Amino acid sequence: MSMDGLQKPHVAVLAFPALGHYIPLLELSRLVGSQNLTVSFVTTPANVPRFQDFIDEALNCGIDLRLLVLPTPHVEGLPEGRESTDVCPPESHGSIFAMARKLQEPFDAWMELQFKEQELAAPPVCVVFDSFMGWARQSAEKFSISCVEFNPVGAFGASATNSAARSIMQRVLEKQGEDCLVLSLDLPRPVRFKRNEINQDYWSPDEMNPITKFVLPMLQIVSKGVSGMLLNTFKELESDYVEHLRNLTGKPVWAIGPLLPMSYFGGAGNKLSTRGKMADIPADELLQWLDSQKTASVVYVSFGSVVKLSKEQTKALARGLEGSKQHFVWTIKVTHSGRSGNAEYLPEGFLERTKDRGVVIWGWAPQLLILSHPSVGAFMSHCGWNSVLESLTLGVPIAGWPMFGEQFLNMRTMEEMGVGIQFCEHPGGVPDEEKVGEVLRQVLSDDKGKEMRTAAQKVKEMARKAVGDGGSSKANVQGFASEMRKLLKMRQEQSSLP
Ligand code: UDP
Repeated sequence: MSMDGLQKPHVAVLAFPALGHYIPLLELSRLVGSQNLTVSFVTTPANVPRFQDFIDEALNCGIDLRLLVLPTPHVEGLPEGRESTDVCPPESHGSIFAMARKLQEPFDAWMELQFKEQELAAPPVCVVFDSFMGWARQSAEKFSISCVEFNPVGAFGASATNSAARSIMQRVLEKQGEDCLVLSLDLPRPVRFKRNEINQDYWSPDEMNPITKFVLPMLQIVSKGVSGMLLNTFKELESDYVEHLRNLTGKPVWAIGPLLPMSYFGGAGNKLSTRGKMADIPADELLQWLDSQKTASVVYVSFGSVVKLSKEQTKALARGLEGSKQHFVWTIKVTHSGRSGNAEYLPEGFLERTKDRGVVIWGWAPQLLILSHPSVGAFMSHCGWNSVLESLTLGVPIAGWPMFGEQFLNMRTMEEMGVGIQFCEHPGGVPDEEKVGEVLRQVLSDDKGKEMRTAAQKVKEMARKAVGDGGSSKANVQGFASEMRKLLKMRQEQSSLP
């Protein structure tokens, strides 16, 4: 119920169990919840402790955001208590997909209960589902509710991966010579890719990695039975492709990003809040160090929530960072997180030799806090969409090492926009020490770096406008919420029919 005693529209949000999906979808839940909607965020027991603080903070701000904790489905090979890709070894990622698929049964059972016991809370009028949770379409049909897809990548990424997936599945992928691939199916205009600009799996579909093969059908945009699409981007950043997706699906496309806490755009709220996981470094220690650095002089190094570099890759990158003489904050994901970490991943004596100009975080970094600090001038990243959007909308250019999926597309977009430069590629790539030094010098010290920062600052300004009053993303959140209110009204009118 809302404060005026009227029922509020209720939305269920289904995220794929990976931090790169949970993080933006939790933020989306808070955002749509702030429009006087009730939101049930679906998860499983082992993930609850990670999200509880976020939920409590939203509740304290009067936002009706609840966790809907479904029992963990039994899946062969899923290590106990590891219900998200970041805590699961890569060889078990298939079991995370299987678990996500099997959540349909407890979700449908919960839905059934909502319709039986209506006095508890209004049953959802809509399920917002992650592209990797496509079974939500069947559930929505079964319970005659609406469903809206959340595609966790940008509008260009979603359009191009849809095109690639369809072309591969229909065996119409077009190659031009040895080194060029052209995507044209379901795109506003053909896009040519060089070998290093697209997922290697797309080059030789017959030798595809099993996970890519499994995911491929999920990358197709299916508009049948779906009432619209929500995107973590903003109109001014990708207007052509937002428009294209609207034409392709024939449905509303609400670009509501960037999905960052409003405190990063001058709004109220706590910048130290946990995002995804508790940070493995005390915020005051980190801030004190960053405060002591020169403006735009530090590179932040991180490769997202899943990628763990091998010893060889870590050592090569360490040598590159050391040789560059630049200052850095580097978050290293290894088997044992915590303050001692796995120092054998680093060249001997590295930590001692770089202690005056580098901070190593073993485990989870408070990424937004770092990227929003004025001392940070560049981000060395794997170009995951969340990281790209966070960096650009906080005004920081990127030195990229794209590894999987749409990360290559993100890298290419950034190069075109003049806010990114590539230094390595592919999950098996080993950074070249000289190249690391050269790219970092360019981004942090040369005129090129200044130009890139100016271009990124423009994105930051656009993003701030988009999420502010009268901005495009804010209007889209309001548009989505008003659609939910219409659905509730229709349900109420139908149920009052004689
Ligand atoms: N992240 C973070 N601290 C870390 C690593 C990642 O806060 O140490 C967050 C980052 O801010 C982003 C998400 O985790 O929101 C990673 O998403 P992205 O799409 O960049 O990559 P993925 O993890 O999906 O590969």
